[in-house]
Amino acid sequence: MTTTVVINIRDAPPSWQSNPMYVYIGSPRMEGDIEYDGSPFGTPFSVPKDGDSAVAIWMKYLHQITRECGEIFDQAQELDQTVLVCDCESGRWCHGTIVAGVANGHLQFEGAVSA
Ligand SMILES: [Zn+2]
Repeated sequence: MTTTVVINIRDAPPSWQSNPMYVYIGSPRMEGDIEYDGSPFGTPFSVPKDGDSAVAIWMKYLHQITRECGEIFDQAQELDQTVLVCDCESGRWCHGTIVAGVANGHLQFEGAVSA
């Protein structure tokens, strides 16, 4: 049985874009001549924009996926046995580990928090 894993776009093999096993989960960007659409799994948070540390952003994204965004959670569950390709610079705090956690069944949807 294979599981869902995350790799950085710099480590992706040639022609991964045409392989349906590979799913881009980053922000909209240009890489050479190739334009990537933003993924629904892209994180709206960024280190320079919000002034947060990578781990704080990771926690925000985790909260958003497991508490607020049921639709994204459902979509992430369908990424079973894929390779997630991310463009973020966060190393081990890449938000893709959260998406992979959902796809691999390690995270549960907790539902919206009432204020
Ligand atoms: Zn990432």
